[in-house]
Amino acid sequence: MGIYQIAVDGPSGSGKSTLAKGVAAKLGIMYLDTGAMYRTCGLCALKKGIDPKDEAQVNAMLDDLKVEVKFEDGSQHMILNGEDVTGQIRTPEVSMAASSVSAHPALRTKMVEMQREIAKSQTFILDGRDIASNVLPNAKYKFYVTAPAEVRAERRLAELKERGDESQNYDEVLRDIIQRDEQDMNRAVSPLVQVPEAVVIDTSAIDIDQTRDLLISYIEEVK
Ligand code: C5P
Repeated sequence: MGIYQIAVDGPSGSGKSTLAKGVAAKLGIMYLDTGAMYRTCGLCALKKGIDPKDEAQVNAMLDDLKVEVKFEDGSQHMILNGEDVTGQIRTPEVSMAASSVSAHPALRTKMVEMQREIAKSQTFILDGRDIASNVLPNAKYKFYVTAPAEVRAERRLAELKERGDESQNYDEVLRDIIQRDEQDMNRAVSPLVQVPEAVVIDTSAIDIDQTRDLLISYIEEVK
């Protein structure tokens, strides 16, 4: 089939990254988590004491912001100005900072350029918010993965617990999910949208392996 791309978009906690990872493993293709790139930018702002919502401050940070993506032993590492920050980008604080910095157009342009560059080299499945609508409008396959906010909050809470992060209870996680949805869907540049041609997958009812196989069955159908 040559090189092709699969776009997976959806809100926070929809299970899209677990799904994309599973599809990549089963099909033997590469997976790019674009959210990790915005998380790395959010972390950079926090480390520098910059307000992630302040566009002028974030733009000033861009000049010496060096974000690199490295694929090692099948997993994606994020390098921020030479430091491997992969283990630092999954906290609730970084999630919110990522959502805030990602609203600024200059920062998005920089990340989107990198994403296109990475994705053209090999067959990739990418997940994010604007993959089908903006990063790769010509992606061969497009999916929109979603679930109700309450289901997503339960999942996020379980994920945080698994990492030993007990900093938030269910209500706080749900509040953050709703706030991130609001920011991600209503920003002026590249908001989270469901493109009309995307196959919609609701992950609340079926389990992750079934969902992965469902997604793969769509890919095989149009191959
Ligand atoms: O997917 P994840 O929750 O890791 O993404 C973190 C944040 O990065 C999101 O809340 C969203 O604001 C932003 N993001 C984005 N565009 C993408 C991927 C993520 O704006 N393609």
